[in-house]
This record gives sequence, structure tokens and C-alpha cells, in this order.
Amino acid sequence: MTLPLSETLASYLTIFTAISGAIFAALWLSLIVWALRDMRARTRDPIAQIMAVVVVAVLPVAGILIYLILRPSETLAESYERALAEEALLQEIEERPSCPGCSRTTDPHWILCPHCHTRLKKACPDCNSLMELQWNLCPFCGNQHVNPFQADEKTAVPDTDKEDETTAEREI
Ligand SMILES: [Zn+2]
Ligand SMILES: [Zn+2]
Repeated sequence: MTLPLSETLASYLTIFTAISGAIFAALWLSLIVWALRDMRARTRDPIAQIMAVVVVAVLPVAGILIYLILRPSETLAESYERALAEEALLQEIEERPSCPGCSRTTDPHWILCPHCHTRLKKACPDCNSLMELQWNLCPFCGNQHVNPFQADEKTAVPDTDKEDETTAEREI
């Protein structure tokens, strides 16, 4: 009791169609899920996420190509990382000290600008630590009698001798 050739062929064809249909459906569904996940990693906009799913669902093969062409180029995590890196770079540039006289980059340990001779820092008369010019007390040793702009001269010369003080001032 053998089936006629045409019927055998027809049943094979049915099985083949069913299997390929199932594979195609599975592939199609997983592409939709992938597109939704991928879009959610790239945007928080719910309308854009729905649009991505609709395009991939309605146009099974072309939809995924259209999605790949039109999707945002970077993920939210990537753009967050890029923003952090940019901010860090900007802060580094802002924090780099520059001379108020000639705007050239200076070293934080310099007392004078080597290019235009502008005074950048002063040294504490007691502990010799570097201080900002406007500070009138030393944060390192607590010396509270530091003249804001002439720290070195004031303490290097005793106040009692008028003659010495004028010479010191001329040396500035
Ligand atoms: Zn300078
Ligand atoms: Zn000091």
C-alpha cells in the first residue's frame, strides 16, 4: 500500500512549508524583539521604540535594513560615557593655571611668570609654603601676619629699621 508519487510529494511539500514557515516566524519574532531591545538601549522615547517595532514587524526583511540605517548611532550608555569624557577634558582645561599677565600656561609651583615676570604666588615667611597672593594667612603653618601682596619683603626685613625696609621695597 504505497501512496502515489504526487501525494508523497505533496505531503513532503506541506512539511517543508510548515517547517520553513515556523523558522521564518521565529526569525521574524526574534528580529522584532531584538529591534525593541536595541531601540530601548538607544532612546528613551516610547514613540521611537514603537516605530522601530512597527517597521521591523510590517516589513519583515526590508524593515530590519531600514531600522539599521535609521537607528540612533550610539546607545544611551555610549553617549553618557562620551559626555563624561568631554566634561572631564573640559574641567582639565579649565583647571590648568595660566598667567594673569600673559595668559600663558604656568606651573602651579611657580612664584613668578618666566615670560612676563608677573607675580603668581608668594612664599610663606615662616614655613616657605607656596600661597595664593590674596591669602593673608598661611594654611600650612597658621601664620596670620602675612601681607596679602608683599609677604616676602615684609617678613624678610625687620620693621624696626626704616632704611632696610625702603631698600627691600626697591628690590620688588
Ligand atoms: Zn606671564
Ligand atoms: Zn606658613
